[in-house]
Amino acid sequence: MNRSGSDTAFAAAKRVIPGGVNSTVRAFKGVGGTPVFMRSAKGAYLTDVDGNDYLDYVLSWGPMIAGHAHPDVVRALQEAATRGTSYGTPTEYETELARMIVAAVPSIDKVRFCSSGTEATANAIRLARGYTGRDKFIKFEGCYHGCADPFLIAAGSSALTTGVPNSKGVPAATARDTLIVPYNDAAAVRAAFEHNPEQIAAVIVEPCVGNMGFVQPLPGFLAALRTLTREFGALLIFDEVMTGFRVGMGGVQKREGVLPDITTLGKVIGGGLPVGAFGGTAEILDHLTPDGDVFQAGTLSGNPMAMSAGIATLRLLSDTTFAHLEGLATRLCSGMAEVFRRRSVPHWVGAAGSMFGFFFTDGPVTDLAGAKTADTALYARFFHAMLDRGVYFAPSQFEAGFLSLAHDRAEIDRTIELADDALAATLQQ
Ligand code: PMP
Repeated sequence: MNRSGSDTAFAAAKRVIPGGVNSTVRAFKGVGGTPVFMRSAKGAYLTDVDGNDYLDYVLSWGPMIAGHAHPDVVRALQEAATRGTSYGTPTEYETELARMIVAAVPSIDKVRFCSSGTEATANAIRLARGYTGRDKFIKFEGCYHGCADPFLIAAGSSALTTGVPNSKGVPAATARDTLIVPYNDAAAVRAAFEHNPEQIAAVIVEPCVGNMGFVQPLPGFLAALRTLTREFGALLIFDEVMTGFRVGMGGVQKREGVLPDITTLGKVIGGGLPVGAFGGTAEILDHLTPDGDVFQAGTLSGNPMAMSAGIATLRLLSDTTFAHLEGLATRLCSGMAEVFRRRSVPHWVGAAGSMFGFFFTDGPVTDLAGAKTADTALYARFFHAMLDRGVYFAPSQFEAGFLSLAHDRAEIDRTIELADDALAATLQQ
């Protein structure tokens, strides 16, 4: 497959953009080689600058659940654009999307929009601190909550891939207030509460993790977090930026029946445009300015283009579409597991809704220590073998995969066949 156009584009980008990318994971540090520069996308496929097509299992890291350039989303954007792209005033688009979110996500009575997942989590933590009058919070090792300072301690996603889970530039005083415990370890959470009496504002968690690879909560873990936060007077924050409208209409909280105090959202609710949101009970959310005393603002917050794309996307989703997507994800995972078994490759696969993942290690993987036992060198070779066969998986072992309404059974089956071929070639190298 000729990808010389990407080589040229990457060289040009590196001259004017640090590392040639505007988000670390895009640089292919986890798998080596040159990142592929895309020029367009339609349905389940990406097309690169050389004209090669790839079946896309990354979907812009989650947002594109409708598939790329879905006609309804494109139409909504065209209509919105002709009315002007930003006013800096309230609009009815915001109320409409907020209503859809409130109707679907059980713990949300009110929701505030911003422009990224990072903003959502940063605001959620400020709100929790303002509400409780406490400074510290608990975060899980390997969970990623965006790139604001307090979260870049033991962070997942590209912070893991590049080996910089603790970024330079984060003040020691900031880092001191982020308490780190292993995922799925409720006893460690209790210990952290006991060692820091009346100092912990919140526990923030990816209720199903996509950012150390795909890791699910063990039975009872989320319920234990709910009990512990209540017992110690802290708020429970579910970071559903990735899982919201991804594992099901109501996020992980609805699937698992555990309701947080604050939920952060992003990705799917913007239909591929920049968006973030955080919501919760009216009692907590009303502490935000202008009515309360916890500040939040944003020039492009609730932007009409982003709201329109989000509304059009959420209109395509229902329990029925999620049952269909989960069927595809299960088919993909069992097919991949069968390929790995046949080729004697240690593996651990999992799926929830339209999200899935696989590790090259003997499972079960329940935390970061387990995720790190994965054979990242094998993953890198497998990734490139799939890329050369026109399938785009995440360029890192420590990321999840995604399906869209544009993927079909034939594509899933073809992916499994190609995976068998790619793995055979990989193991011969
Ligand atoms: N939280 C989670 C769980 C995420 O997966 C991400 C992004 N991958 C973020 C927060 C940050 O979102 P954004 O990249 O839009 O700032």
